[in-house]
Amino acid sequence: MEKESFNYFKQCSLCGTTWETAEDFLNDPSLQLNGYQFSAYAHRFGNGNGLLLFTHKKGNCNTTLAIFARDFKENDFPRNKPHLEDLVKG
Ligand SMILES: [Zn+2]
Repeated sequence: MEKESFNYFKQCSLCGTTWETAEDFLNDPSLQLNGYQFSAYAHRFGNGNGLLLFTHKKGNCNTTLAIFARDFKENDFPRNKPHLEDLVKG
């Protein structure tokens, strides 16, 4: 499994939707920010301290997607997800 072979930022594990960039992901209104979870795994491997949990509200897809908070560090945060910036940068 070569991570480099994927040309998108994230794929929904249930419905297969892909987001090309972190920005696309953040701006998708069908993704609802659910919370933040400390991750010892992320911390250990230098990926920051936690995961952001999103619910994909699209059709019948209600799956939860977990992304390293650090992946969003360079992004501007959309107004509909006001707490995100605090979680990632705080
Ligand atoms: Zn989905």
